[in-house]
Amino acid sequence: MKKRMRSWLTPIPRNLREAFQQEITRINLRRLIGISITLFFIALVLLVFEDSFFHIGPVIFAFLIASLLQIPLFFVAFRYRLKIKRSLIQAQTLVYLLSVILFGIQLSLRLTTQPGLIPLFLIMNLAMAAILYLDIQTSMLVFTFAAVLFTFLLPSFQSDATLVFITLINVLIFIFMVWLLNRMIYRMKVDGFALERELKEKDRVLAEMNQRDPLTGLDNHTSSFRKLYEEAAKAKRIGYPISLILCDIDDFKHINDTFGHPAGDHVLLRISQTIRATLRTTDIVGRYGGEEFILILPDTDLDAACILSDRLSQAMTKTNYDVDVNVTMSKGICQYDAGQSIDEWIRTTDRRLYEAKHNGKNRFESGTRLHQRT
Ligand code: GH3
Ligand code: MG
Ligand code: MG
Repeated sequence: MKKRMRSWLTPIPRNLREAFQQEITRINLRRLIGISITLFFIALVLLVFEDSFFHIGPVIFAFLIASLLQIPLFFVAFRYRLKIKRSLIQAQTLVYLLSVILFGIQLSLRLTTQPGLIPLFLIMNLAMAAILYLDIQTSMLVFTFAAVLFTFLLPSFQSDATLVFITLINVLIFIFMVWLLNRMIYRMKVDGFALERELKEKDRVLAEMNQRDPLTGLDNHTSSFRKLYEEAAKAKRIGYPISLILCDIDDFKHINDTFGHPAGDHVLLRISQTIRATLRTTDIVGRYGGEEFILILPDTDLDAACILSDRLSQAMTKTNYDVDVNVTMSKGICQYDAGQSIDEWIRTTDRRLYEAKHNGKNRFESGTRLHQRT
């Protein structure tokens, strides 16, 4: 019961509350600008034909003045809504809505001798409930104000007690229904908002999963390649060096054969953690293939990449693999040459890796072009 009450009062989950408030403030202010301008012109037209409306000129005039003050404020509030205290915007909205109710009641009650104008006030309430997302406190305040004011003012404009009674009952029921409608619309907005956020979050998680290698949590092959192209383009544009290291674990098959595949998986995980911990956060590490890794090193020239490679080899000897193995890697290292295509760059690095294997493993070979060696 308590929980239901709480969910009725503040139905939005705590973590979404701020974003939701921002969203409904934005929508409400945009709609209030529309409503206030429309009502301003309606009041203007009424003022023109004021003579035939039993001299309600002062009421219309007061509303026009109030609107003239409020409309620019709505524009300012909309423009700077993220910087203005939200309670101020809510207070301004409340003041405007109360002035609309006051205007509506005056308009409909002063004209009770002319049948059909009470519906005008009811329509105003309905429009307010249907168009604006009001939190429970604001909506209770606004519609209670409408009901109480109408109840107090009606008898002074209508002398027939029976008519007063019937009108009052009808209007109060109508206002209550309108309030319920407003709550339902608000509730639906809350649910829609929460659902939309949940979907967005799931989308984000899915996209993230699509980029990750499930065993090591590193970028997978596709993601590594996409980032390689992006980083190379950035390096070229800004003009800093960028290097690539392709690593292949030496004799990994032997590790699998000796300790079994699960232990092999664990070793792969430990290796990936060591690589990640050795590199800068701006460096990109991906699982290129089974026991191969790709290291993309922005703002790193060939010499720096070779030094890093040695540091990495040392770190690997110090890593605890939970099984008694000595893990080594062979590496091909290559700095990007702006005259080269990305494919050529990868091919050269791969070639260097092949040479490292060929030249005895547990070492690196480096160079920028296939035909030149450094
Ligand atoms: P080399 O020094 O020439 O690279 O020898 P190697 O044994 O490392 O190379 P090879 O290509 O012959 O074998 C790679 C092995 O890596 C074979 C494969 O079963 C294993 N491997 C690839 N991916 C995984 C994986 O996700 N988990 C485990 N446990 N093993 C893997
Ligand atoms: Mg391999
Ligand atoms: Mg290998």
